Amino acid sequence: MQSTPLTVLSDTAAVEALCQSCGACCSTFRISFYWGETSAAPGGTVPMEMTEQLNLHRACMKGTSSHTPRCVALAGKLGEQVSCTLYQNRPSPCREYEVFLPDGSLNPRCNQARAKHGLGPLNVRFIEVRNIARKL
Ligand code: SF4
Ligand code: SF4
Repeated sequence: MQSTPLTVLSDTAAVEALCQSCGACCSTFRISFYWGETSAAPGGTVPMEMTEQLNLHRACMKGTSSHTPRCVALAGKLGEQVSCTLYQNRPSPCREYEVFLPDGSLNPRCNQARAKHGLGPLNVRFIEVRNIARKL
C-alpha cells in the first residue's frame, strides 16, 4: 500500500487551512471546561446556550457529550470544509489543543479522531521557517 507523502507546514495560516479541511477533533472528543468560562459567569465568553452543564463545576460544548459527538459550534462538512462559529470565544480546551507536538510531529489524537470518521491519516509535520534558517 502506498503511504501518503509527507507535507511540511511552516506557518500558522497553513495549520488553520489544515484544520479547516478536517474538523475531526470537534466531532470526536467531549470538550469540557470549568463552567466559569461560560457567559453565565462574569467574564465568561462561551455562550451558555451552546453548552451543557456536566456537574457542579464543569460544562461542555453542546453536542460533544453524546455517543456520536459533534460540537454545536462546528459548521460545514467534516473532512472537506469546516469552521468554528465560535472561534473568538471558543473554550480553553480548543485554544490549548496542540495540533503539533514540540518536536513538530502531529498530535496522535488528530489521526485517532480522523480514523473514527473514516478519514485517512494525515502525514504532516510542522517546521518553523526560522528554525530551518537557523540551522543553515
Ligand atoms: S483533528 Fe487535528 S488536524 Fe483535524 S481539525 Fe482537529 S486539530 Fe486540526
Ligand atoms: S468550540 Fe469550535 S474549536 Fe471547539 S470543539 Fe466546538 S467547533 Fe471545535
